[in-house]
Amino acid sequence: MIVVIGAGPAGLFAAITAREAAPDVPVVVLEKSARALAKVLVSGGGRCNVTHACFDPRELVTRYPRGGRELRGPLTRFGPADVVAWFAARGVELKAEPDGRMFPVSNDARTIAGALLDAARDLGVDLRLGCGARRVAAAPGGGFAVTLPDGAVLQADRVLLATGGRTSSEDGYALAAALGHSVVPPVPSLFSLDCAAPWLTALAGVAVPDAEVAVGAITRRGPVLVTHRGVSGPAVLVLSAWAARLLHDCGYRTELRIDWLPDVGPAHIDALLQEFARAHGKQAVALGGPGGLPKRLWAALAAHAGAAEPLRWGDLGRAAREQLGAALCATRLATTGQSVHKEEFVTCGGVDLREVDFRTMESRVRPGLYLAGEVLDIDGVTGGFNFQSCWTTGRLAGLAMAAG
Ligand SMILES: Cc1cc2nc3c(=O)[nH]c(=O)nc-3n(C[C@H](O)[C@H](O)[C@H](O)COP(=O)(O)OP(=O)(O)OC[C@H]3O[C@@H](n4cnc5c(N)ncnc54)[C@H](O)[C@@H]3O)c2cc1C
Repeated sequence: MIVVIGAGPAGLFAAITAREAAPDVPVVVLEKSARALAKVLVSGGGRCNVTHACFDPRELVTRYPRGGRELRGPLTRFGPADVVAWFAARGVELKAEPDGRMFPVSNDARTIAGALLDAARDLGVDLRLGCGARRVAAAPGGGFAVTLPDGAVLQADRVLLATGGRTSSEDGYALAAALGHSVVPPVPSLFSLDCAAPWLTALAGVAVPDAEVAVGAITRRGPVLVTHRGVSGPAVLVLSAWAARLLHDCGYRTELRIDWLPDVGPAHIDALLQEFARAHGKQAVALGGPGGLPKRLWAALAAHAGAAEPLRWGDLGRAAREQLGAALCATRLATTGQSVHKEEFVTCGGVDLREVDFRTMESRVRPGLYLAGEVLDIDGVTGGFNFQSCWTTGRLAGLAMAAG
């Protein structure tokens, strides 16, 4: 018997795969909550960003701050194209948005959850809801003894741990540790940053399509959104993923730098401002300048740099111009904390990847134990990469457990 712990996308996909590959082997899925695929249902704002339209594994792995190197081989065996084909074969078409994110054509996460649950039911997966695994122990004669909430014990030949990240279960890490695994301390990834900058947060809602954000030596570029607590948007979320550990270790109190005009950059900003001043000498600095920034942001940056109305471009001295240039290309903000991004958040940390064989997802520490999904120290940036890692690792684990 195969016992899968956790009915998230990784666990359920592994269970389906195992039943498809070995119809004679019973597969039990234990889910401690009352609902399978809870995160799939709320994912992508209820639309479920299933995967990403990036079909080259070499390119795909660059979207994983942790686990990219290990996923390279597995993504070659079961990548986004295979996910698209898998769902298509079950009547669910996926579509790619211009930024590469792939959603069901229905724009409804229930389509994805429904296809998985139907497949599991049709294949005879024994899904037990409200039934958490309390303990997993290696059985003396081989295999595992899995203790259920009522004290009953399931004897399993193979066990898959697919308990998800830190928001799904801390006990998944405890189960892994009890079986001899090391767990890289789990901390948040994919979050917005709170900043102590009332002049900026007063602009909540302002969006800049292309800015560069940096913490220490880590820099990312893309859309930035000003929120009532600080900054968010794709560039900030991606930065938070790459700097997840660094930010956690400093208590989310550090300096965030923003270049609002990365195409110009600090080296050329002064020349651009001089040119603009020559052409628009009579215009108030606060009313607008080069670079096409939103008016409210421009005015706030100008005021922040000491160039509030009624100062005109023609009267802007060198020191003030340089200060304005610094505000435009190197705004320095003190971060004070992090805020959950509601569309997608994941865990940085989890079971140490060196302890897993990525050809099969079998534990190198405890043969017969398999691991898949977010319980591992794998996480991607936003865009469907986190589910893709679940489909890929779940698939390989399911095939290997069926063959084992
Ligand atoms: C709000 C939100 C939106 C998201 N949107 C997207 C998106 O659009 N695209 C994307 O790629 N990623 C998205 N993610 C990330 C994605 O949801 C996760 O990476 C993914 O769900 C991880 O899958 P998993 O199967 O490893 O774990 P989970 O989905 O967390 O499932 C693990 C399951 O195990 C169960 N469990 C835990 N312990 C036990 C136990 N002891 N016994 C039995 N069961 C147990 C839990 O109850 C849970 O149901 C989103 C995340 C969030 C929070």
